[in-house]
Parts: sequence; C-alpha cells; structure tokens
Amino acid sequence: MDFTDLAVPAVRQLVPYIPGKPISELEREIGRSSIVKLASNENPLGPSPRALAAMSAVCEDLHLYPDGGGFSLKAALSKHLSVDAERITLGNGSNDVLDILARTFLSEGVSAVFSEYAFAVYSIITQAVGAKAHIATAHDGSVGPRYGHNLGAFLKAIQKDTRVVFIANPNNPTGTFLTRPQLASFLSDVPQHIIVVIDEAYFEYVEDPHYPNALDWIEAYPNLVVSRTFSKAYGLAGLRVGYTVSHPDLAALMNRVRQPFNVNTLALVAAEASLRDETHLDNTVTLNRLGLKTVSEALLARGFDIIPSVGNFVSFDLGVPSGPIYSALLHAGVIVRPIGNYGLPNHLRVSLGTPDENQLFLEGLDQVVHR
Ligand SMILES: *Cc1c(COP(=O)(O)O)cnc(C)c1O
Repeated sequence: MDFTDLAVPAVRQLVPYIPGKPISELEREIGRSSIVKLASNENPLGPSPRALAAMSAVCEDLHLYPDGGGFSLKAALSKHLSVDAERITLGNGSNDVLDILARTFLSEGVSAVFSEYAFAVYSIITQAVGAKAHIATAHDGSVGPRYGHNLGAFLKAIQKDTRVVFIANPNNPTGTFLTRPQLASFLSDVPQHIIVVIDEAYFEYVEDPHYPNALDWIEAYPNLVVSRTFSKAYGLAGLRVGYTVSHPDLAALMNRVRQPFNVNTLALVAAEASLRDETHLDNTVTLNRLGLKTVSEALLARGFDIIPSVGNFVSFDLGVPSGPIYSALLHAGVIVRPIGNYGLPNHLRVSLGTPDENQLFLEGLDQVVHR
C-alpha cells in the first residue's frame, strides 16, 4: 500500500523543511567532536543567565500544565513593546504562530503571497492547508537589493483570492530588508481585507536607521500582524517561543485554533527573564555587528559575491553548485547551510558566531575552496 494516496491532497505535494544539520549528527558521521555549527542563525552566546536561573526555579513544578494563557509573559511583552496584551498570541516558536495564522485564514480556494527566496516556512504552511501560493519575483538588482523582496511585485501577485501576505523583514536567507517608506506605502496600498504578516525574527539585530519597527503601524492597520521570536537574538531557539502582535479580534480568532498549552512552562519563564536581561541582548548585538563586518569583508576579500545582510547570517555566491563545498566543509568540521531549496543553488548561508567560530569557518572555507 502507498500511504501517500491516503494523505490529504495538499500534503501529497509537500516537501519537508530541511533544518541545519545538528552537531550531534555530524559528530556521529565524521567521528570528531570539535564542530562549529553556523547553520541555523542561533545566538553564539547562548541563553541569558537569567533565563537559565528562571528555568531552574520552576523545574519542580513541571508536573503542572503551563499557564495556557501565558498571562505573565504576555504582561511582560505588553509592557516591553507598549502594546495591549490582547494583541499578543504566543507560540511554540514564531513558526507555530504563523502556522496557527495559516490555519485560521487559509484553506483550499484562497491564496497567500510571498517572495521568491523567502523564508521556507511560508510555503509549507500555505500548502499544508491546501491554499495556493502566488510568488512575488524578487529584485534583480536594478532597483532594490538583488534577491530582496520587491513590494511592487507583491502588489501584482495579489489576486482576488488572496487572504494573507507574508513578508520577512529582514528576510532569511537573503538578509535583505525593506525600508520604512517602502513598507508604509505598501501597507496603504494593500486592500484592508488582506492580512499582511511582517515577520521580524531578526528585529533586535538590525541597526540600519532606515529599518522600520512594524509595531509602529499596528494601530493604523487592523490587517497587520507582526511576528517576533525568542529563537534568534534572545538565544532560546531550543525552547521554542515566539509571538505575534495583531488586532485583538484577529488574536481572538487565532486563539480558537491554538493548542491550549502550545508554550511550555520553561519557555514561558525563560522568555520573560530574557526580556529583562538587556545586557545579554546588547552583548549579542555588539558581537553580531563585529561578526557581520568581519565575515562579510573576509568573503568579499576572497572574491565572493555576498548578499549584503542586516541579520545574524550572510549568504554568498560560490559561483558553482554549493553541494560539494558544503560537504567538504562538513568534513572540515564546519556546518553551514546550503540554500538550493530556496532557489539559490550556488549560495551558502553562514550564521555569525563568536570571533573564533567565524575564524574557523573562514579557515575551513580556505581549505576547501581554492580561489
Ligand atoms: C528563524 C526564523 C523564524 C523563527 O522561527 P522560530 O519558530 O521562532 O524559531 C521566523 N522567521 C524567519 C524569517 C526566520 O528566519
């Protein structure tokens, strides 16, 4: 029997998400232990010490279900972001909230719009519920940043059946971003019945003065949903906690779909404690600024075409298919991310690590690529 025939039609066509290779897996494969993982845009400083302490303090209560309403974390976020708590939806990672949103507003017969080279999760959650995807062609480099989101193309891709638009700002894997005036005029051009999701997973890292805080538009546009996460700059990727900020009515609808205990107790307290640790966040952003400069310049000096990034990663063009170089780097103990599944078969994406990790990546690259 072929079980594929039993799967719902939308799932039959679905291609699974490919995560970065875990360190433990490569250890088993190549039998060495000094491995550098720069494949999943994780924080090289780890979680905040305050998050660790907060988790230790609740371990004895783990026989109890979490606070399903996330009252305390929502209150802390509400204060931190200056938004009403009713606007906040918590998720098991921001991917969970995006998935909840897709299951709330998309189905067969309607469509979502997102960009070429956009974050892979948009296409998975759209297809999984049987909705169509209309792809907005990315910039070719003549006007906006090459590979970056082209909002003019988004407007053209929007059809009568479109319910949701996904924008990653900055985008992963390109690291490109949209400016305040660009997004402001897009929001005013999009019909109000279409939900515009602005995914700000890397918000805390971006220092460019033209980069907008989409929360500034949350009152003006009831159709705007802003997503953020504790996985990246807050260093809690393994715990899984993220959230959206939206109109309260939208949040209430998403709450119907949300699993009652989608965010676990450890994640709730660790996220709240992380919000209070400004020092750790500052150190994270400072280290990333350094890494972004060092690695971008080192790649340029080696003659690679990089996609200028404002995130905690850089994608660069090898000029040849990336598969063999990715594998050779693995054997040198360095895990990066091939992004052929994003339509960029000659690119690799490297996350920014500690200065030592960045150096080991560059040395590994010099061993396996001769230019
Ligand atoms: C990493 C990332 C996320 C975060 O996912 P979580 O589920 O919160 O870990 C969301 N959007 C983009 C564009 C990302 O790169």
